[in-house]
Amino acid sequence: MKVVYPGSFDPPTNGHLDIIKRASNLFDEVIVAVLQNKSKSPMFTAEERIEMLYNILEENSNIENVKIYKFEGLLVDFCIQINSKVVIRGLRAVTDFEYEFQIALTNRIMSKDIETLFIPTDTNNLWLSSSIVKEIAIFNGEVDNMVPACVKQKLKQKFS
Ligand code: ADP
Repeated sequence: MKVVYPGSFDPPTNGHLDIIKRASNLFDEVIVAVLQNKSKSPMFTAEERIEMLYNILEENSNIENVKIYKFEGLLVDFCIQINSKVVIRGLRAVTDFEYEFQIALTNRIMSKDIETLFIPTDTNNLWLSSSIVKEIAIFNGEVDNMVPACVKQKLKQKFS
């Protein structure tokens, strides 16, 4: 089965990587779908985020069934376009739940064929988010245990 793991990945963190690894163990193919959203103003361009994700896959060569795509517009349309019926989302604390539940229900209203499956975060990544990483990186703080090595390097380049 082919599944889609959508997100902003601005930048990708160890929390995202953990969900990618776990989904890739469960399903035949995982499409990491990088959202290019014109109304959000990301720190990294979609191309930069995609490049970081490719570098992460290179660093983790044991992950073989993952592909990285860019998408804009509605997630359900993207799923239909690539012929996938399952959306994977990671869940951290209760705070994620309401937002994720709303999105999942909205997607279900738009397409009854597409299901959202949630993977609970690893406890190590419970507090971890792209926003936290950005706040620390802006002030040249240490992000060693939060992001893969290639992302750390990219953050250094951006803020040096
Ligand atoms: P979005 O803008 O779609 O919320 P994110 O890049 O912030 O994009 O997150 C993409 C997905 O990854 C979401 O399902 C989010 O809950 C999940 N996620 C983010 N950080 C973590 C983490 N530390 N552990 C588990 N899942 C996470």
